[in-house]
Amino acid sequence: MTSGVAALTQSPDRPRLGREDGALVDPFGRAITYLRVSVTDRCDFRCVYCMAENMTFLPKADLLSLEELDRLCSVFVGRGVRKLRLTGGEPLVRRGIMTLVASLSRHLAAGSLDELTVTTNGSQLARYAGELAAHGVKRINVSLDTRDPDKFRAITRWGELDKVEAGIEAALAAGLKIKINAVALKGVNEDELAELVAWAHGRGMDITIIEVMPLGDIGAGRLEQYLPLSLVRARLAQRFTLEEIDYRTGGPARYVRVKETGGRLGFITPLTHNFCESCNRVRVTCTGTLYMCLGQEDAADLRAPLRRSAANDLLEAAIEEAISRKPKGHDFIIDRRHQRPALARHMNVTGG
Ligand code: SAM
Repeated sequence: MTSGVAALTQSPDRPRLGREDGALVDPFGRAITYLRVSVTDRCDFRCVYCMAENMTFLPKADLLSLEELDRLCSVFVGRGVRKLRLTGGEPLVRRGIMTLVASLSRHLAAGSLDELTVTTNGSQLARYAGELAAHGVKRINVSLDTRDPDKFRAITRWGELDKVEAGIEAALAAGLKIKINAVALKGVNEDELAELVAWAHGRGMDITIIEVMPLGDIGAGRLEQYLPLSLVRARLAQRFTLEEIDYRTGGPARYVRVKETGGRLGFITPLTHNFCESCNRVRVTCTGTLYMCLGQEDAADLRAPLRRSAANDLLEAAIEEAISRKPKGHDFIIDRRHQRPALARHMNVTGG
């Protein structure tokens, strides 16, 4: 029997896309081992580059229940996903979220999942850090663009820096490893990024700087926010010695070691670099829509097959079919003439 790229293996019921071990492999030979799940589109912040101030959120009935999210994630784990990230919206504002974390942690205990992680704005971390750690979460990403309380309020519109910093402290105290994600914003936090790096590394945290991506209509010009990371990196190199390291996560980040701090610094540059060859990930929204690429509109509905049958056959078939359509790469462009987003959906829909 053939194995490898998009091979069809025999099953008594239906053809099965993937390898003999059931792994999901796309037409370009990339095994899908990383699933990012947006558990809600709601957020308690309204970051200026992410959402418009008055967003309309999905009706609750459209959302997958926690049980459905668990089933969906578990099917992916059964098909070779080794890393699960819960995101949003803000994952920690989803009611009952710890029930999902607790239940997914069984895959960690069973050895079928290597990592369960969360990307959060930190606002609820003081409350949940201990529970996350107790359920086997080892690392989390916390988004923080500035440590200036006024700027923080201006960027997030609704957030309070105190709460996030208290959340970070609680997470560190609970033994969680933290990576800070900071979006580089022209004229807003660009002068502060070196300080942010020094602070993060001083607290034993990694930090990644992200270039603004043209996702969703946010009611303001993208070009005003756009700061190329080549510039950020050149400026950081004036203060720090940036040493190339061979650390890869399969994602868009490229890492360096900062000699002076010993800490790791990542750059995510979707607009200026291509990172698609090594893409091992897919994303599911809180309504069960599977996006095979963050930068493309093509998607597959998994909610209907999930709800149509208590068995997982239909769902697995829909996943296989979708993975067979995973595109080779994406093409983000900030349209300089029209300043329109390259994609209509906001980041809170697919998760960061
Ligand atoms: N609420 C969680 C958080 O704050 O991390 C998870 C969801 S949030 C959408 C995930 C990440 O996406 C955050 O680090 C956020 O800063 C980033 N993000 C949102 N919109 C973005 C955009 N247009 N360009 C680049 N990063 C963006």
